[in-house]
Amino acid sequence: MPLSTLSILTAAQLSQLLRRGEVTSRQITESCLSVIREKNPRLNAFLEVFADEALSQADESDRRLFDGAPLSPLDGVPVAIKDNLLYEGHIASCASRMLEHFVAPYTATAVQRLRQAGMPILGRLNMDEFAMGSASETGAFGPVKNPLDPSLVAGGSSGGSACAVAAGMVPLALGSDTGGSVRQPSALCGVVGVKPAYGAVSRWGLVAYASSMDQVGVIARSAEDAAMVMQLISGGDEKDSTSEENLRFHQLRLPDMKKTRLALPVEWFGAELDCPVPGSENALSFARAMEAAGATLVPVSIPALEDALAAYFVLSCAEASSNLARYDGLRYGHQTAMPEDLSALYAKSRGEGFGQEVKRRILLGTFTLTSGYQDKYYLRAQAARERLTREFRAVMESCDGLVCPVSPRAAWELGQKPDSVALYQSDLYTVPANLTGLPALSFPWGQAGHMPGSVGLMGHKTGLNRILGIAAMAETLKGGGANG
Ligand code: GLN
Repeated sequence: MPLSTLSILTAAQLSQLLRRGEVTSRQITESCLSVIREKNPRLNAFLEVFADEALSQADESDRRLFDGAPLSPLDGVPVAIKDNLLYEGHIASCASRMLEHFVAPYTATAVQRLRQAGMPILGRLNMDEFAMGSASETGAFGPVKNPLDPSLVAGGSSGGSACAVAAGMVPLALGSDTGGSVRQPSALCGVVGVKPAYGAVSRWGLVAYASSMDQVGVIARSAEDAAMVMQLISGGDEKDSTSEENLRFHQLRLPDMKKTRLALPVEWFGAELDCPVPGSENALSFARAMEAAGATLVPVSIPALEDALAAYFVLSCAEASSNLARYDGLRYGHQTAMPEDLSALYAKSRGEGFGQEVKRRILLGTFTLTSGYQDKYYLRAQAARERLTREFRAVMESCDGLVCPVSPRAAWELGQKPDSVALYQSDLYTVPANLTGLPALSFPWGQAGHMPGSVGLMGHKTGLNRILGIAAMAETLKGGGANG
């Protein structure tokens, strides 16, 4: 097996090669490192590579494999992590000047579980600052470029994770998804992205953006690979009281298509399935292919979708303004030099540490929580969220999955900087899963110009295995995984 081809294999294929003794974890890790050396200077996906450490973790894994005692099916397969996940002794910057030198004092549960499964951690991945954005351009350390066409954005906020997986720098990556940040960059880079149900993966050690919606997610080259990671990281954790053991992901199962019912919201596909909204054509072509394979398509109406995007931005900014209050220049993070007094210390440290988009969200969130405006914005957004949750619950009672577009547009030109509202609109199809707490994923399907097209699926709270199974079926229909 030539080492240069290792970087395009799936994690499941690498796992088999490792178990058959045809490659070593060190060889896989070295091949990833060589792709990173070659491509990262241009693509800017990795903010830091833990080369020596990952190689010694790979050697430990090789010893276990040699002794016939692997810790998990992914023992020896490298992974990289978004830079808002803590890994003890390593910087976790959230792509912000505020945390540029912040060293994590402990390890996030999801990362810990990957280490316990024997996976070498290759490095930390670029993102939008504090996970706020949809193009990975708001970070303080430069934008991430799309590996399929470096003149275009990689999507965001987990753009570094999607770019690294799509470029063959690493087979698997963790990201986070508060409003679409795993699914949308995966869609723009042509890989698979999974946002588990709220509570399926512990948020312990994930830097908080909007705590009622944040979830750790997985970016991979196939549905099967994403399922393998979900098996390792999901399940209850005493350190996060919102995590739930009954949301543990057990196994990928291919569904019986003849018994599969797929919901299509008329708000996105039209009553006549005429695709009135941008980005829905590939989703409809996927639904048609599933229908041809035996699935039943069920048109449904979810009127509350109309308010989802507005509700998301009111609630996420409100939560962000409260979560980011902890960066006060005193306890951790950037501290201004020689402030005149305490209030100057706060103001200057925050003013210098945060970028423009983060400041905008803190201002918006603080405003909507101000007394007098709370009823008008925050409480109305909460009510819209409840309506949406009720309507989705009703639909999911009789369907196995809901088909949706992921992004209204394919990857756009880097540096184009659409105005904030236009950028916020790119989250239109992804935020409902975060508001309702349901599991959701995206995978490549069709084309969007010269770039890959994508489809989204949402499932029951406990139904990630079903929608992952449907995505895996779709891959077999197309004849292979994300790169197939
Ligand atoms: N693009 C969305 C936002 O800017 C989603 C971010 C995310 O999921 N972290 O809020």
